[in-house]
Amino acid sequence: MSARKLAELLADQPDLTEAACRGQWALFDPAAEDEDHAEVEARHHRAAAICSRCPALAACRDWAERIPPKHRPPGVLAEIIPQARPGRPHERKTP
Ligand code: SF4
Repeated sequence: MSARKLAELLADQPDLTEAACRGQWALFDPAAEDEDHAEVEARHHRAAAICSRCPALAACRDWAERIPPKHRPPGVLAEIIPQARPGRPHERKTP
């Protein structure tokens, strides 16, 4: 699932109208197959920094924590940065 799809899901949440990720999907997306690891890491940290200032962070985190980990959208979500490891592409690291 892309960050754009995530935004669509978040749009259903009444407390997320001020989501700071709106229009910045590319920063939050999971790594592309040919994307450099260091660039992905830097991009995801920039996204998590946006999350840290987001007025919807508490509501977003509450929503994310209610989704079973294997069903959570890939990419950065509520300050959670995905950890790409072979065979475990959706494992996440909380800040
Ligand atoms: S906490 Fe992050 S992912 Fe959640 S709505 Fe805010 S900017 Fe988007």
